[in-house]
Amino acid sequence: MTMNIDVTYTKSLKPKPIADNIAFGKHFSDHMAVIDYSEEKGWYDPRIVPYEPITLDPAAMIFHYGQTVFEGLKAYRTEDDRILLFRPEKNFRRLNLSSDRISIPTIDEEFALSCLKKLLEIEKDWIPTAEGNSLYIRPFIFSTEPNLSLAPSKTYQFMIILSPVGSYYKEGIQPVGIHVEDEYTRAVRGGTGTAKTAGNYAAAYKAQEKATQEGYSQVLWLDGVEKKYIEEVGSMNVFFKINGEVITPELSGSILEGITRMSIIEMLKDWGVPVIERRISLEELYDAYDKGQVEEAFGTGTAAVISPVGELNWDGRKMIINNKQIGELSQKLYDTLTGIQTGKVADPYDWTVEVK
Ligand SMILES: *Cc1c(COP(=O)(O)O)cnc(C)c1O
Repeated sequence: MTMNIDVTYTKSLKPKPIADNIAFGKHFSDHMAVIDYSEEKGWYDPRIVPYEPITLDPAAMIFHYGQTVFEGLKAYRTEDDRILLFRPEKNFRRLNLSSDRISIPTIDEEFALSCLKKLLEIEKDWIPTAEGNSLYIRPFIFSTEPNLSLAPSKTYQFMIILSPVGSYYKEGIQPVGIHVEDEYTRAVRGGTGTAKTAGNYAAAYKAQEKATQEGYSQVLWLDGVEKKYIEEVGSMNVFFKINGEVITPELSGSILEGITRMSIIEMLKDWGVPVIERRISLEELYDAYDKGQVEEAFGTGTAAVISPVGELNWDGRKMIINNKQIGELSQKLYDTLTGIQTGKVADPYDWTVEVK
């Protein structure tokens, strides 16, 4: 796909948020990238335009049948003022996998990435400089055809918006408490759990409400069929260090394959730390805990990178992990991965991509 990306500049630049306390997802930069899709033309008219509300027909299919997918990644500013993306090609790969699952036409991944790079060149000043801050990038696609019949939309829009975000850990890394959810289900094999599509997140709110009421910050999701096997924590993948071995649930058909997860597995293998992807039941985890073998637990995702788990509550059965402190391995993974992402430590895996 070789197309010119048309640029329309905004007439008035917005003020940037104050660096030391930027709320997540509330500030947006001056411009956004847009590409349209129609059956006849395919993806067409790529452009960068001022950030502004969009107008959709009330019958636009997105409102009724929910065909929409999204991605999340970050741009980091290095100490020597370079701009780095972390494995962005994986995000556009996954965007297409998500789209395919819910019958949205795929997009040229390289071209989509080149639109992002062009947008970032224009919006460079929106990438915060303060330690721990970054520019969150949200590519997404939604169906736009005005039509109430039940069939995939014939038209779509792809967009990228940018949002400066503060440090996830303003007061240092605090392990979180987790509510084990055994009533509601996030996803089942054969469903849409492997796709970053809106409905999965709407379906998760009820359980999150329960967790919040009980004073826990996240939900541990179990498999939707037997309610026995561990799947994810909140919207993060999950890892346990048990008796010297790191275990993460295998990609079962209902788990979202995180790029952080993928990177953590590669790093552990590289370091010679035993890491295995397999089914792990809650019973097995609690048995190991009773034997004193559960050493560390953490979630992984773009927002927090590593989120240590300090406590689990499964219907009153409480598990305190590593005395509610971040574990040694979790800390090393966090330091190394964030170091690579921000250009502070060497990137032996060639994961970062510089935007010039
Ligand atoms: C996005 C997401 C993750 C983490 O993916 P990353 O690529 O590591 O950010 C994990 N689980 C769910 C459900 C997600 O939506």
